[in-house]
Amino acid sequence: MAQDPDCIFCRIASGDVPADVVARTDRVVAFRDLDPQAPLHVLVVPVDHHRDVPALAAADPEALAELTGTAARVAAELGDGQFRFVFNTGAGVGQSVFHVHGHVLGGRPMGWPPG
Ligand code: 5GP
Repeated sequence: MAQDPDCIFCRIASGDVPADVVARTDRVVAFRDLDPQAPLHVLVVPVDHHRDVPALAAADPEALAELTGTAARVAAELGDGQFRFVFNTGAGVGQSVFHVHGHVLGGRPMGWPPG
């Protein structure tokens, strides 16, 4: 499915719902998370609707590469270039929006393993 009218991230990507957009290409949009968990917390999403990162990788690997490149660019432009890149995949590990999004997190020390 290209777009899902009931999906909040489709609606942000199309501009129907406002967000603090920090980068955009034809295929990818990056915007600040509503509830930031670090000084830098940006979500990078494809414009087209895919439920999670394996689905995106299978359907459109070029979009996944562009998503990754956009994450690195955002981290370099808005931070010091170091970032944690997280794709929660499945409700059991914390995915709450089923439109694939990479969390770009940075600007503070981070522990490992993640909680
Ligand atoms: P998940 O839990 O699916 O990995 O991450 C979803 C993220 O989306 C959360 O960090 C949440 O704060 C963020 N989020 C949910 N709804 C909105 C919204 O309408 N706008 C923005 N900017 N972020 C949102």
